[in-house]
Amino acid sequence: MSSGFIDKARIHVRAGNGGNGVVSFHREKYVAAGGPDGGDGGRGGNIILQVDTHMSTLMDFRYKRKYTAPNGCDGQGARKTGKDAEDLVIRVPLGTLVRDAESGEIIKDMSDLEPYVLCKGGRGGWGNQHFATPTRQVPRFAKGGFPGESLDVFLELKLLADVGLVGFPNVGKSTLLSVVSKAQPKIANYHFTTLFPNLGVVWVEEGVSFVMADIPGIIEGASEGAGLGHDFLRHIDRCRLLVHVVDVSGSEGRDPVTDFDTINAELQQYSPELASRPQIVVANKTDIMADPENLEKLRAHVEALGYPLFEISAAAHQGTRELVWKIADKLNTLPPVKVFEPEYVRRPPQIDSSVPPTIQRVDDGHTWLVDSPWLQRLMNSINLKDYESRMFFDKSLRDSGLFQLLEEMGIEDGDTVSIYDIEFEYQR
Ligand code: GDP
Ligand code: MG
Repeated sequence: MSSGFIDKARIHVRAGNGGNGVVSFHREKYVAAGGPDGGDGGRGGNIILQVDTHMSTLMDFRYKRKYTAPNGCDGQGARKTGKDAEDLVIRVPLGTLVRDAESGEIIKDMSDLEPYVLCKGGRGGWGNQHFATPTRQVPRFAKGGFPGESLDVFLELKLLADVGLVGFPNVGKSTLLSVVSKAQPKIANYHFTTLFPNLGVVWVEEGVSFVMADIPGIIEGASEGAGLGHDFLRHIDRCRLLVHVVDVSGSEGRDPVTDFDTINAELQQYSPELASRPQIVVANKTDIMADPENLEKLRAHVEALGYPLFEISAAAHQGTRELVWKIADKLNTLPPVKVFEPEYVRRPPQIDSSVPPTIQRVDDGHTWLVDSPWLQRLMNSINLKDYESRMFFDKSLRDSGLFQLLEEMGIEDGDTVSIYDIEFEYQR
C-alpha cells in the first residue's frame, strides 16, 4: 500500500540474559584463607510495551523488526552484584493487539496506558558466595545467568473509537468528522480520498466526549482494486455505535435507499456481528437536495428496519450539533468499547533430550554441577516457590533421564546435585 499506513507487523523480541555469578575469595592482609565472596549476576532487561498516544500507525515496525534488551552485568568479588540491565521499552499506538505469531492467540490488547511486560529478562546467576557449606568451605564454582525470554509476535492495530463512520465514498463522512471534532481528514470531491483511518475526539460538554473514526471504506478500496477489500473494517470492530452516512442530494445520481442497503450488505459479509451493531442513519447534504422525496423514502425504509434517521448538512453545519447530542445519548446506553481478553498461556519448556546435559564433578567428586539449556529455560519460566510448579519441575527432572545419567557416572546417596540456583541432596 502506498499510503504509508501500516497497521500490521511481525516482530521478534528478546529480553536480556542475566549476568553470570563469579568465583572469588575474600582477600585480606594477614588473613590466610578468606571465604567465598563471588557476587551474583544482574538481571537482564525486560521487553516492555507502552502505548504512545501520539502514534497512529505501526509504520515504525516496518523496517525495524528485531528488538533485544541488554544483558545484566556479571557479578564481582566482595559480594558485589552485577548491575541490572535497563528495560527496552517498545512504543505502540493505542489499540494495538499483540498476538503470539505461532498460535495466533492474543497475548495483550494495548488499550490503556499501563506498561506491559512482554518478555522477562533472565535472572542473574549465583556467585560462589551462596555455595559455602560446612563440608564445602571452598566452592570453586559459580552459576551462569538465565536467558531472557523471547517471542515472535504479530502486532495488529485495531483503533479504539466509540463511533465508526460508514457509508459510500463522497457522502461527507470526512466532512462530518472535521466539523464535529478537531480532526483534519482530507476532504475532496472525488472518491477514494481516505486512505487511512482518522480519529477525532468529539467534545459534547464539560466532562463528556467520545471518539469518532473515519475509515477508508469497503466500497472505496474494493472497487478501486486497491486490494483493501474489507481490511479497514477491522478498525471499527470495537466501535459501540455506527453512524451510517447517506447522501440524499442525488448529486451523484444514486438512490439513497440502495446505497444504504449496499453498505449494510457489505458489513454483513465482513461480519454479521458488526452489521448488527447499533446504527444511527445520517441523511447528509440536505442543503443541495434535489428531490425531498428521496429523503422521505430513506426515512421510511430505515425506520421500518428500526434505525433512527437524522437530517444534516455537514458542510453547512446544519443539524451537526444536535447529531452530536443524539450520539452521546445513545452511547450512554451502550456497553463500553470492546477490549480483547488474553488467550495466550505461556507453556513451560518441554523436555528436550536432543541436547544432553553437561555434568561436572567438583568438591572431591561429591557435588555434581548440571548444565542444560532446557532445564535452564524451565527454571527461568516457573516459580519454584509455587507447589504446582515445584511438582512439575520434579517430574520433568525425573522424566528427563538426568538421574539415570548421574547413576551411570557414579553418583552416591548424600552427594549434592547443583542445578543453577538449586541444590539438593541426592537420594536413590
Ligand atoms: P467522504 O468520502 O464520505 O469522506 O466525503 P467528504 O467528506 O470527503 O466529502 C465529499 C464532498 O462532499 C466534498 O466536496 C464535500 O465538501 C462535500 N460535502 C460534504 N458534506 C456536504 C454537505 O452537507 N453539503 C454539500 N453541499 N456538500 C457536502
Ligand atoms: Mg473521506
